[in-house]
Order: sequence, then C-alpha cells, then structure tokens
Amino acid sequence: MSYDVIVIGTGPGGYVAAIKAAQLGLKVAVVEKRATFGGTCLNVGCIPSKALLHASEMFHQAGHGMDALGIEVAAPKLNLEKMLAHKDATVKSNVDGVAFLFKKNKIDAFQGAGKIVSAGKVSVAGEDGKVQEIEGKNIVIATGSDVAGIPGVKVDIDEKVIISSTGAIALEKVPETLIVVGGGVIGLELGSVWSRLGAKVTVVEYLDTILGGMDGEVSKQFQRMLVKQGIAINLSSKVTGVEKGGKGAKVSFEPVKGGEAQTLEAEVVLIATGRTPYTAGLGLQEAGVKLDNRGRVEIDGHFRTNVPGIYAIGDVVKGPMLAHKAEDEGVALAEILAGQHGHVNYDVIPSVVYTQPEVASVGKTEEELKAAGITFKVGKFPFTANGRARAMLATDGFVKILSDKETDRVLGGHIVGFGAGEMIHEIAVLMEFGGSAEDLGRTCHAHPTMSEAVKEAALAAFFKPIHM
Ligand code: FAD
Repeated sequence: MSYDVIVIGTGPGGYVAAIKAAQLGLKVAVVEKRATFGGTCLNVGCIPSKALLHASEMFHQAGHGMDALGIEVAAPKLNLEKMLAHKDATVKSNVDGVAFLFKKNKIDAFQGAGKIVSAGKVSVAGEDGKVQEIEGKNIVIATGSDVAGIPGVKVDIDEKVIISSTGAIALEKVPETLIVVGGGVIGLELGSVWSRLGAKVTVVEYLDTILGGMDGEVSKQFQRMLVKQGIAINLSSKVTGVEKGGKGAKVSFEPVKGGEAQTLEAEVVLIATGRTPYTAGLGLQEAGVKLDNRGRVEIDGHFRTNVPGIYAIGDVVKGPMLAHKAEDEGVALAEILAGQHGHVNYDVIPSVVYTQPEVASVGKTEEELKAAGITFKVGKFPFTANGRARAMLATDGFVKILSDKETDRVLGGHIVGFGAGEMIHEIAVLMEFGGSAEDLGRTCHAHPTMSEAVKEAALAAFFKPIHM
C-alpha cells in the first residue's frame, strides 16, 4: 500500500493534518509511538492541565469565593484521587475521540516509532521490536516537542520530587511547598493548580517579568494578582542548581545582574523552563533534512523542508508552541498537499493563560509596536466598570485594544479577566478581517456581558467609552 501522505506524530498538528488531508480525498497513514493519539496536548498538556485548573478553581471557590454571594458552605474537602480520575477520564475521552476520527476518515494508524528512511519511505518500529516499512508520496514531520532543561544546569527529573509538567499533572499528594522554575504559561498554570489545592508556591524566573513576551502592562497586573493569591515570585533570578535534599529538593539561584546567591527548599520542584523541538530518532540527519540553529526543522513558507516530499508543522518548527498554531498549520499543509492554497496568518494567533483570572492576547503588544516604530492608540476599559463583572464579583482586570493611529485598524488586543480566553476571539476575528476599533466599538454587544468591556475598550481607542 502506498499513501499520499504519511504523518509522523499525532498531536494537534499531525492528527488535524491527517484528518483534513483525508477529508480532501487523500490516502493517509499516521505513525504514533505513544500508546494513545493526541500528542502532548491531549495526553499530558493542554487537556489534563485544563481539567485540573477547572477542578482546583472550583475547590478554591467553594472554600473562599462564595460567602459574598450569600452561599455558606462548610470547608470543602479535597479528594485528590477523584480529581485526578476526572483529569484521566477527560484525557481518555479526548484521545478516544481522535481514534474514532481516524477510523471515520479511513486513516491507517501505525503504532510505533517512525523513522524517515528516505524521501517517500518511513519505517515503524513497534514496541515488540518488529519493524515495518510504509511508503508515501509525502511525509509530514509532526513530532512536537519535549521538556527543555535549564541551560547549563544538570537537572535529574524523577517526576516525583523534581518534576516536569508531566509529573505536575499527576502528583499523588498536595506538596506543602512547591518551587516552580520558570514563570511562563505552563509554570504559572500548574503552579496555580497546586497553590489552590494548598501548596505554598514560589516561582523563580530569569526574566524581569512573568509571561515574557506578553504586553508589559498585562503581565505586571497579572503578577500583582498572583501575589495576592499567595504565590511568591522572584524575578531576574538565575537558577544555578537544582538537586534533591532538605525538605525534598533545593533550588539555588542568584540575581541575573550579579549579587548574593540564595537557596530555597521545597517538597517538590517543578521545572517549567520551556520546551524543545523533538527530532530524536527520526533519521533526519541521514535523510538530509536541515535543522535551524535552535534545533527546529527548517521549513519555508509552505512547510517544505529542504528535502522534496518532506514537510514539517507544529512545535517541531518555528513559531509559537501552541496547539492551535499546530492545528492551523496541519489544515494549511493538508490543503497544499491536496493542490489547494493553504495559509496561516501568524499575525493573528491568540494565546491564553488559563489561570483565574485568565490572561489572553492576540496580535501586537505595546512594546512590539514601539520597537517597530508604529504609531498607535490605546483604548482601555476596566472590568470594575462592567455591570456583569460586578454581578459576578469578577471585576479584576481590564481590556486593552491597540489600534493604528492613522488607519484605526486594530493591531492587538489584550485581556486580563474572567473569561478572557473566550472574549479574545472577537478581537481575533476582527483582526483577521482587517477591522478597525470603530468597527468593534460600533458592533452591538449583548448586555450585560463581560464582552461589553471589549466594545468599550475599542470605543476608548477610537473616541471615548460610554461607561467611564
Ligand atoms: P505534540 O502534541 O507534541 O505531538 C507530537 C507527537 O509525536 C507525540 O504524540 C509523540 O509521541 C509523537 N512522536 C514523536 N516522535 C515520534 C516518532 N519518531 N514516531 C512516532 N511518533 C512520534 N498549547 C495550547 O495551545 N494551549 C494550552 O492550553 C496548552 N497547554 C499546555 C500545557 C502543558 C502542560 C504542556 C506541556 C503544553 C501545553 N500546550 C498548550 C502546548 C501544546 O501541547 C503543544 O503546542 C502542542 O501539543 C504541539 O502539537 P504538535 O502536534 O506539534 O506536537
């Protein structure tokens, strides 16, 4: 059997590429070395972390957030085993869903480690040691990413005391103390989970801000909120050592600009310093596929590697390491392989931090616009002035719209607040269609909704908000 497309890896990039290609009439095979489909995202990333973020937030609210609404409940009791079972069941239903979609779309699935033998040929080594070879006109590398270490520091991750995100979604007991190395999205989300469940969490971050790359005003406000929630944050701190000992493990760090070093101890240490493209064992060197200077598979604007017939998408290539970016690349590549014109607009990729409140962002930040020399207007609206937010006691945060000073075209949107991850999409759709702040401000928004704050921020950028 020869395939039109062989996809190696079934994360959001690979499985979506496979389904879309099959929908467009191509004969597709997928190769996956994990026991289940769905990649990092469905198995140990986006989905399980969101199941725990939701459950831990419910626990926290039951304990702290309901009195003011006139609901008096006894102190909630944590059943961590059941919470983890909810997370596992969520994962299972999602990965089973992908298996169902593969069957529905007549995609052949091969379980085992895929290796590119040459353009057009992939070998699959099963757990039982058996190796088979499959042939296809096009090969898609969608092998994703793996946990990155700390540059220059040897860390022995055992997933019990010194853990990665994978260990952090499976701790069998709430640690008394948790140090999170890395104040990015993954570290802050998982730090929040365990903080809500009772751990004393301390974040150690190299940069002088959390959520590096986010709009500066947003990350500052968000930092204040996390500190108010009881999470300690050490910025501009360079970790020089992580080792077992003391209460569990010790983290040594020193100010980035130099100064006195210090060591903190905690029952558990989470290493959340980012992710690195995963290309091990794929045979890329032998096949002559070029990597860039950061170990990512090098591609052109159409996902083509330097070897004809071999393509790559998702975390293993340049761009933000996000599931929806991988998915959109999967769709675009499938369209290209089917002779259509697939395209991804990298200027409009939303990103969301699923903490409470949520943080969401799309397009350019103020810092990026300033650096690019683009003149812009800023429209801001706080949730304290939004009726629905007051009714829900969700007044923390604001919406910020950035628009071009000359044309009024919206260039970026940033939200801190309850439901930010849902609200961001109206700004994304507007930007996709080249809309202006005036367009957004004149669009009728249902009352009372949190989204009215988006409209008001757009009005603030264009002229003046009504309710402030
Ligand atoms: P992956 O999902 O990594 O999938 C790659 C697959 O390829 C894996 O299943 C792997 O087993 C397989 N593979 C690798 N090599 C081979 C081989 N040789 N043969 C066969 N199979 C192979 N992103 C978001 O957008 N939103 C979130 O909320 C979010 N939360 C996250 C939370 C955590 C804790 C983590 C770790 C990540 C999170 N991410 C989130 C990032 C997201 O998971 C990734 O961006 C996304 O999974 C990338 O998809 P991918 O298809 O490129 O690769």
